[in-house]
Amino acid sequence: MKDRPHRVDLADVIRWHLESERAFGMHELPLSGLRPVSHGEGAAAAAPTEVGRDGAHPSKTSSEPSSDPDVPAALEAIAGRIAACTACRLSESRTHAVPGQGNPRARLMFVGEAPGRDEDLQGLAFVGRSGQLLTRMIEALGLRRDDVFIANVIKCRPPENRDPAADEVQACFHFLMDQIDLVRPEVICTLGGCATNNLLGRSDPMHRMRGRVFPFRGAQVVPTYHPSYLLRRPEEKRKAWADLQVAARLLGLEVPRKS
Ligand code: SF4
Repeated sequence: MKDRPHRVDLADVIRWHLESERAFGMHELPLSGLRPVSHGEGAAAAAPTEVGRDGAHPSKTSSEPSSDPDVPAALEAIAGRIAACTACRLSESRTHAVPGQGNPRARLMFVGEAPGRDEDLQGLAFVGRSGQLLTRMIEALGLRRDDVFIANVIKCRPPENRDPAADEVQACFHFLMDQIDLVRPEVICTLGGCATNNLLGRSDPMHRMRGRVFPFRGAQVVPTYHPSYLLRRPEEKRKAWADLQVAARLLGLEVPRKS
């Protein structure tokens, strides 16, 4: 994979900026599609893998598709348990719990921090402005939202969108682990520092985690920025685009460098 060069070149900076803007649908610039490449080629060209806190999946290797026919039903059962959950104080202020949604056999999962206002009102993950940008990010990979699974670390909205408290994460974390173990994604893109640190058990700033790949429960975790951050800091979209290119490589897709 062609990653951002170490020596900054103005032409490369402009190209990366245009690619990310175009990829996320912010400008009407031509974008050719992704072409499939072999899994080995993609994985070998991706960012170097680092060791996370949990590198082992309990029951399968990451390259195997899920063969459990009851996965959709099991995910529905988890969603039902989440809807009825009162294990932490967030149950008292939520409108709807937000279990997450998507393809039960997705190869790519996105994990955010927590539901926001729009998600709380609708009971669906990433449906506000951030969700619209996430949709464009997914489509830039040549995928549809229905192809991926989207969830959050915690399932109920914290008041005023504050960061989730440690005890809230602890109470809720098992739901996400169950979802990961059922879906068995090959790649998990964590969205933002809160999601990344909570998933991996780290406490690092985002700029030190993105650009790296971490093994976790049989998947490869690719940290990138949260869409809400990208809406506030659009100049960072080229970095998010680079992260998505890493995910694409791990999935055996190749993003063309030039249209
Ligand atoms: S945030 Fe999680 S643990 Fe807390 S009430 Fe909601 S579903 Fe239960």
